[in-house]
Amino acid sequence: MAFFDDLSKKITDASTKTIQKGKDLTDVARLNSQISAEENRINTLYGMIGKQYMELHREDAEDAFAGLVASVAEAEQNIAACRAKITELRAVPHCPNCGAELVKGAAFCGICGTP
Ligand SMILES: [Zn+2]
Repeated sequence: MAFFDDLSKKITDASTKTIQKGKDLTDVARLNSQISAEENRINTLYGMIGKQYMELHREDAEDAFAGLVASVAEAEQNIAACRAKITELRAVPHCPNCGAELVKGAAFCGICGTP
């Protein structure tokens, strides 16, 4: 019977090891997820630090930050230019006489006929 007892013990040990390995993998996945969450938090904080630095030192950035501050300012100008263009594209002309909306490029007001 010693043979069967020994075999039974080996199977039990193997099962225990398999269960432990599964638990370890679950722990690794949980820790990786935690690392990812902390990295995201750090990136958010970096963004806040950068934004605050920009607000405080837009005009007097230290040399080490001058290039980055200039890049942000350039991006802001590009955004403003795009927004102005969108406003221009969306602008609907109005009749100077009756105030009705006009079709862009129309020669006469469709409501009152004013040229
Ligand atoms: Zn009109």
